[in-house]
Amino acid sequence: MISTNNRALLDMPIKDFIISSEKVAHVQSGNNAEHALLVLTKTGYSSIPVLDVKYRLKGLLSTKMITESILGLERIEYEKLAEIRVDDVMNHDVAYLKITDTFRRALDLVINHAFLCVIDEEGTFVGIMTRRIILKQLKKYMYQQN
Ligand code: AMP
Repeated sequence: MISTNNRALLDMPIKDFIISSEKVAHVQSGNNAEHALLVLTKTGYSSIPVLDVKYRLKGLLSTKMITESILGLERIEYEKLAEIRVDDVMNHDVAYLKITDTFRRALDLVINHAFLCVIDEEGTFVGIMTRRIILKQLKKYMYQQN
């Protein structure tokens, strides 16, 4: 059974828990894989959002997607990095949250995703919500119950 307190958390809008877009490392869909690999390696994130020039969410990109794209039969073909575009290797099919969504939907989705991109009514990327943030909020609520 869901207690009143838990329901209050589940019905909360996610907008207060978002890491805003200016703090989120991203690449643009037209960037090449060499640039993207630099961003991923320097930031240390396993996966980052791909946006278009109008800041609309286009996909997600991980280091693994890039390295797989340059795996030859006997060697890693680094020289190909500059020719490969981010949109050729990124995952286009991404789960995302709308800014108006509640904590309940975020909780459902973070079971399978370490973070989720958040978009506004126009489809513009506004930031991300991470599994870490959600777990922190859950912990806070659980302790308040006792
Ligand atoms: P964390 O909660 O910090 O462990 O982040 C989980 C995942 O969310 C990271 O591996 C990244 O893929 C993504 N992430 C978290 N913070 C950022 C950020 N500031 N910029 C880009 N991606 C991020």
